[in-house]
Amino acid sequence: MMKAVNTIQPSILICASLFFLATFAPLLAQINPEEEEFYQSPTSTESNEIMSEDASPPATSERSSEASKRPDQSLLDRLTPEVIAAVFARVDAVEIVVDDGPSAAAAFASGEMVGYIFSTLDVLRAPGYSSIPFDVIAGVTLEGTITGAVVLFHQEPYLLNDSRRTAQLITFLTSLEGLEGRLGAEGGLKPSFVAGATISARAMRNAVLEGARMVVRYRSEEIIITEPTVDTINFKPLSTQDLVRDGGLAYVHITNQDLFDAMKKAGLFNFLPQIPVSGGPGNTYIEFVIGYANPPKIGRNGMGQEPYNKLMNEMADGTEGVFVATLHGVYDHRGTKFNNLSNQFRLDRITMTQGDRIYDFVKSDVIFSLGQLADILMLPPDNEFDPMEPWRVDLHAFAQKPDGSSKAFILAGLDYDLPKKYILMPEPTRSAAWLEPWKEGQRDIAILCGALLLLTAIFIFQDKLNKKRSLHRLIRNGFLTFTLIWIGWIAGAQLSIVHLINYLSAPFQNLSFTFYLTEPLIVIISIYTAVSLILLGRGVFCGWLCPFGALQELLGQAARAIHLPQWNPSQKLQSSLWYGKYASLAVILFLVVVDPSSAAIAEEVEPFKTAITAIFIRGLPYVLYATALLVIGLFTERAFCRFLCPLGGALAIFDRLHLLDRLKRRPECGSPCHLCEHSCPVRAIEKTGKIKMAECFQCLDCQVEYYDDHRCPPLAKIRKSLERMSAHPSVPTLVPLKSQDLKP
Ligand code: SF4
Ligand code: SF4
Repeated sequence: MMKAVNTIQPSILICASLFFLATFAPLLAQINPEEEEFYQSPTSTESNEIMSEDASPPATSERSSEASKRPDQSLLDRLTPEVIAAVFARVDAVEIVVDDGPSAAAAFASGEMVGYIFSTLDVLRAPGYSSIPFDVIAGVTLEGTITGAVVLFHQEPYLLNDSRRTAQLITFLTSLEGLEGRLGAEGGLKPSFVAGATISARAMRNAVLEGARMVVRYRSEEIIITEPTVDTINFKPLSTQDLVRDGGLAYVHITNQDLFDAMKKAGLFNFLPQIPVSGGPGNTYIEFVIGYANPPKIGRNGMGQEPYNKLMNEMADGTEGVFVATLHGVYDHRGTKFNNLSNQFRLDRITMTQGDRIYDFVKSDVIFSLGQLADILMLPPDNEFDPMEPWRVDLHAFAQKPDGSSKAFILAGLDYDLPKKYILMPEPTRSAAWLEPWKEGQRDIAILCGALLLLTAIFIFQDKLNKKRSLHRLIRNGFLTFTLIWIGWIAGAQLSIVHLINYLSAPFQNLSFTFYLTEPLIVIISIYTAVSLILLGRGVFCGWLCPFGALQELLGQAARAIHLPQWNPSQKLQSSLWYGKYASLAVILFLVVVDPSSAAIAEEVEPFKTAITAIFIRGLPYVLYATALLVIGLFTERAFCRFLCPLGGALAIFDRLHLLDRLKRRPECGSPCHLCEHSCPVRAIEKTGKIKMAECFQCLDCQVEYYDDHRCPPLAKIRKSLERMSAHPSVPTLVPLKSQDLKP
């Protein structure tokens, strides 16, 4: 059993140390010259050097909307030679573009304009995780390719004062070079490269890609496609065979046999074709193609560049051209009435149908002819024809009897559906930005969900588990190790007061809530914590899912294993110290409202960023602070959790709402027995035997005692009685048994 030393001096000393460290260590870090600036040198990609102050806007840090107006320098002032060199290497001059488009500077190389340089702050004001818009300067060529990006300003909590992650961010932004400037462009490093600050990295990446698109598009002649549109812009030389193969032209080959079959099908048995066949059944009667002529890939390839251009220029808007041509055979599509005034120059051999609309043609509808048997037929602007819907051309023929009577029949029908390659489609709607990390992180999500299922099973079957002390220890330590190493150090999913504040303040921020969904593991842990908080209390998270809590507990166990002296405050003092975590929470919340820049500093009371997210690779004051807390934890179990943690304080407040109480107690707990009270590593059991749930970490140690019939005195008494009874069956027992005692 741990030795309790209830002297007031050490307690005051340790409390004072805790508060001193919590309050002053982060402040000391703020004057660490190496981490003072957040304006990163664009030339520091490799070295992570910090830009000199003369090259930087004033560096203040606020969370307020006022802060979001910075940096207040003009774009031209921010484009120092170093910045320009970093984002657009060959550029030797810049000039602000004066137009109504997204703010940008034109970039010149040897007098020739080669692209633009822009600021994400000016173009998009995209917010980071802190909800304060960051400023990333990026370059983009006239063709829309990113040439480089550097961050000039940010207030991202998981990047500030973190040289390791800042270096990762610089490398990450450098990897955007060469990417197509549009949201969803593939390539470059994944935001997860900046582990622990993926929301910030993703937001910056998207701002650069989207900003580049906006800057270039506004000034290019690119037509913005908002709905499917026939491609009347692009051209590629294609032969008739190519066009037939890809569906640009519909083709039919009718043999003499096909002709007679069609006549039979029409019931014309004693008739002969009006235009006689030539040759045998397999000889060609007609080879015929049709197509939609407006796309240059079809029309221009069919009629040649000049006639096509001339035609398109002369045609009124909305006029459609239909290409019809007879390639071979004795029959043709024009017919005998084409040149006959008395028949109104009708093309009586073809009709066109779309839906319930039927189009007939006369000679004047032929707006272009290529030789004798290739025509472009015109549909005037009010034709109601939709070129992107299927249509059909029927080729008619005539049969006659020897007596001269004749009948028309359909020789062939050609269905036409303009292939997708001749249609310009609007840019596909990108899946929501928050979905991207969920898709990318499927493996991690699966691991975490598996672990949470296991944890749920542990709590559901806790009674069985708690009856086996060694199994309980094995599972508990195994889970804590997983929490520390995988959740904390590998996946970087340490829940923090920063997350809680962001979630609580989301309704008041001008941000979509989906912005906060871009960290899947944090979202899942948050939801699990919220549900478990309502059901069982704070202990599920603090006792099992907090990586820093796990680190403290595992170190604490090691300390006890090597018999380091343990100290716990008296109950009275402990009750006072418990308020420490509420006080630190209150200070942070107060500062968030009145002085956000100081809140960012006060949040450093949590050593999570240092010990978990940055794995101790951080400024010395931060490392000293986190180490000191862990050292204190060697002598006082989870001292930080119990007395200082603002997140623990917040969860403890909500703990009052929990619905279930699954920790078992006996009437003897507290009077006369105090075993569990002393076994509870965090002293959450009052002298009365009642568990103070807001302080309970659900470690289940007291439940292992509860079921241990060698340590739990009432149970041991029962066990001994039962043993006596079995040894001396004739001796009646004097121990009053309760059903509850017999079925622990
Ligand atoms: S009190 Fe704080 S550090 Fe401790 S387990 Fe809870 S959240 Fe983690
Ligand atoms: S020993 Fe019991 S009361 Fe103490 S923290 Fe663990 S579960 Fe809670």
